[in-house]
Amino acid sequence: MKKYCRECGKVLHPDEEGLSVKLLGHDITEYFCIDCLARKMGTTADRLRELIERYRDAGCQLFTPK
Ligand SMILES: [Zn+2]
Repeated sequence: MKKYCRECGKVLHPDEEGLSVKLLGHDITEYFCIDCLARKMGTTADRLRELIERYRDAGCQLFTPK
């Protein structure tokens, strides 16, 4: 099932979905795209992309494998 950004309505990439869960918790029902998440967390989209790569490299199941 497709998920959409709660904030801007953009269709989410699975990595963005994973990042929402990672940053906001497993119980969330609302997901955010990387730009809105960055704004929410007071950081930049680039830093979040780095974070995704770090989690992916660590083998985190929330992110699609390379
Ligand atoms: Zn958004």
